[in-house]
Amino acid sequence: MINSARNEAEPVAPKVRIYSRPEHNISRAQISESALKVLYKLQKEGYSAYLVGGCVRDLLLGREPKDFDVVTNADPEQVRKVFRNCRLIGRRFRLAHVHFGREVIEVATFRGAGEEQNDKQVLNKEGRLLRDNVYGTIEEDVWRRDFTVNALYYNIKDFSVVDFVGGMADHKAAELKLIGDPDTRFREDPVRMLRAVRFAVKLGFKLHPDCEKSMHKVAELLSSIPSARLYDETLKLFMSGYALQTFEMLRHYGLFQVLFPATENCLSIEENGFPRLLLIKALENSDNRIADGKTVTAYFLFAAFLWEPVQMRAKEKMAKGLIEFMAYQEAANEVIAMQVKSTALPRHITMAMREVWSLQPKFNARVGSKPSRLITHPRFRAGYDFLLLRAETGGADPELAQWWSKYQAANENEQRKMTQPPRKGQASKSRRRRPPRENGKDTTPGKDV
Ligand code: ATP
Ligand code: MG
Repeated sequence: MINSARNEAEPVAPKVRIYSRPEHNISRAQISESALKVLYKLQKEGYSAYLVGGCVRDLLLGREPKDFDVVTNADPEQVRKVFRNCRLIGRRFRLAHVHFGREVIEVATFRGAGEEQNDKQVLNKEGRLLRDNVYGTIEEDVWRRDFTVNALYYNIKDFSVVDFVGGMADHKAAELKLIGDPDTRFREDPVRMLRAVRFAVKLGFKLHPDCEKSMHKVAELLSSIPSARLYDETLKLFMSGYALQTFEMLRHYGLFQVLFPATENCLSIEENGFPRLLLIKALENSDNRIADGKTVTAYFLFAAFLWEPVQMRAKEKMAKGLIEFMAYQEAANEVIAMQVKSTALPRHITMAMREVWSLQPKFNARVGSKPSRLITHPRFRAGYDFLLLRAETGGADPELAQWWSKYQAANENEQRKMTQPPRKGQASKSRRRRPPRENGKDTTPGKDV
């Protein structure tokens, strides 16, 4: 029986521990007004209502939660009747979204998925949970959650925190422990391994040794997850401000190779070489940008992850006689085709990545009108940032990067001087270019940069 270890962890009722208001630090002042409205309204209508999951975990840490999730014993139809500003979503498991302007409070009905209901819980042959769509009680709901620290319930009735699984103690110990048997829980949903890494890094928690052991064992199962879901998880992993640490940890547990097989291949060939450096620098920069409150773009990071595989393939193709341009085009096509099998990058992302890559050789042209045209390219900034990255890590001439930095800062006249052809060919070309404002396109570069 797949879930036997979880059986041992039950029965639930005697283990419940309630932390009354003075025993924890969650204050209503930290909870969004919309979430409070939802909780109070449900309570007023006679239902039970709790905050659960990441928001409780984050509130206990004194952090501002990303969003507030509510659970209740009201079924979705009943929730809809309570709120005018409510929409039901999801086919497999219906959830209510209560809208307050741009803020959405998700309200879920307690989910039951005990082994005694095996007819309703469908596992595939690897033990992956394919369907669990039955409503249940709070005592049942707790078992389907992943980590003990994600399974704490804040009760609006008396402002207590309800703990069925020792989540509070693990929270204090800063430890991520799976509820139930780790092998079983990871098999049910291998994405939990990525969540383990994400939370460990974000919260600064350590993984429980059993959890770690299990991850080393079943990491490969991640490859059974649909690529669209892995893409979403990959974004969460790398766009949250801790990309570098996340990268190291994913590699440690053998998860990175499932997400980025081509990159892992290059890294293992050239462990201490440039590809690793470029990638690390890109991740570091991205983390710094987020720390400074700036935005980061997914396509830039993916372009950095896959740059080395593209180069490697392109070089192989050139060695077989293909011209550089074609070699890079084909290499990019192949690497992207392979990558989307593991993480389903949307088309606008792959297009932007190609642009960043294809700009790279164009930076070599520094004479004549090409620089002034290049600088108006919609992806110029990303391409230039990528050039800087290459220059910093030995993949491009630092002098070239400096030239482009200077070119952007220069005024029109200086720019014109910088792009003068070398003396030999100067006569014929400069005659055409010299009269100022004769050709607006040629002589007004970079105004919008
Ligand atoms: P974040 O800060 O990223 O929002 P979170 O813990 O709130 O973290 P969500 O994905 O918003 O994560 O999920 C909310 C809650 O639902 C989790 O805390 C957990 O209790 C439960 N949960 C989410 N995904 C899973 C999963 N794959 N397996 C088990 N429980 C899950
Ligand atoms: Mg959440």
